[in-house]
Amino acid sequence: MTAKPEPTPEHTPELALDAAYFGRWVGAAAQLFERDAARLTALDAAAGDGDHGANMVRGFGAVREAAAQHPSATPGELFSLAGTTLTNSVGGASGPLFGMALRRTGKRLGAAEAVTLPEFAAALRAGAEAVGKLGGAVPGDSTLLDALLPALDALDAPGSAEDAPDVREITGALSAASAAALSGAESTGAMQARKGRASYLGERSIGHEDGGPHSVVLLFHALVLAPDPAWSPRPAAAARAEEPTSTENAAATGGRVGVVLVSHSREVAEATAELAKAMVGSGDIAPVYAAGGTDDGRIGTSAERIHAAALKADEGKGVAVLCDMGSAVLTVQALLSGSDDRVLPAGTRIVDAPFVEGAVGVVVTASVGGDLDMVLAAGEDARNYRKG
Ligand code: ADP
Ligand code: MG
Repeated sequence: MTAKPEPTPEHTPELALDAAYFGRWVGAAAQLFERDAARLTALDAAAGDGDHGANMVRGFGAVREAAAQHPSATPGELFSLAGTTLTNSVGGASGPLFGMALRRTGKRLGAAEAVTLPEFAAALRAGAEAVGKLGGAVPGDSTLLDALLPALDALDAPGSAEDAPDVREITGALSAASAAALSGAESTGAMQARKGRASYLGERSIGHEDGGPHSVVLLFHALVLAPDPAWSPRPAAAARAEEPTSTENAAATGGRVGVVLVSHSREVAEATAELAKAMVGSGDIAPVYAAGGTDDGRIGTSAERIHAAALKADEGKGVAVLCDMGSAVLTVQALLSGSDDRVLPAGTRIVDAPFVEGAVGVVVTASVGGDLDMVLAAGEDARNYRKG
């Protein structure tokens, strides 16, 4: 009897992009939509009609059920089934649009039992083109295409989607695509919506990120999670905040400490985030979100913006919040005291530190994987930095 060879660094396990992998993707996507439904709905409520989270939960719940009832032999079959099910189960525009994307992807995948990453990327591209034709949107119209197309560009980048079955290469390429989808989704905040319900707001849609592209982010996120048959989601951030969760508990789940920068000025918060990220240099930067100014862009503080930024920054290891002064500090303290309806993620702490220098210390420490105590200490160390 010969023993199975141990995987060596030169020989990482292979990942087949087959019906089983995409079946796990459906399961992961359904769970991520359940976890993030409230956030998607809040995005849609700001510029649309507030049903996007519920639509995606219903749609992917139905896809999960259909996939379990009618097991598919090939990825193509699974995508066709998923697309048809979405179109038939979601009332909103997202049903037929995501449905068309998946159906067309399935058609393009054909009858192969497993596909390569470049083949999958090409099929998704066909799906995206079909969405453009169906909905008439072009890049920059603030729709789901503004996340999907950047993600596909990332997959097409030279050296990204190699024709290799190595699990690390595939998940690396899919993670890069997922990050590109997220920056695309965030860029819709600066766009005027020209399609869908959000377009009814005209110029007032500027300043609101669109919900649809954030769903695209979750779908790519699910592709990254799907290789792991044991994956299951962490509970939603808001739900976790109600439990007496400790940061040690959160540390066991992976992820990094998130950072939120709260200034009276939107520009100061954003520029400070950029400065701190630049100080990390290349490599993997911890989640940093700016929450400056009021909802309508004036000088001031917005509990809503701080809360949204904290939810985005939360990866389950705590969130460090830096504020400049006055109402910024008071608003964060009020949120932390629980006197507000908005519940911050578990392990959210205010950092007692000067804004700019503290931000640099905090972001650098979080980016190298420091835990919450280390990150808070790095911020507070900045107080000791004398300049005269
Ligand atoms: P509804 O708009 O009917 O309430 P949802 O809220 O579920 O449906 O989905 C809205 C999302 O659908 C938007 O966030 C947008 O990204 C996407 N969308 C709407 N219309 C279009 C379109 N014509 N082309 C591409 N995407 C669109
Ligand atoms: Mg809607």
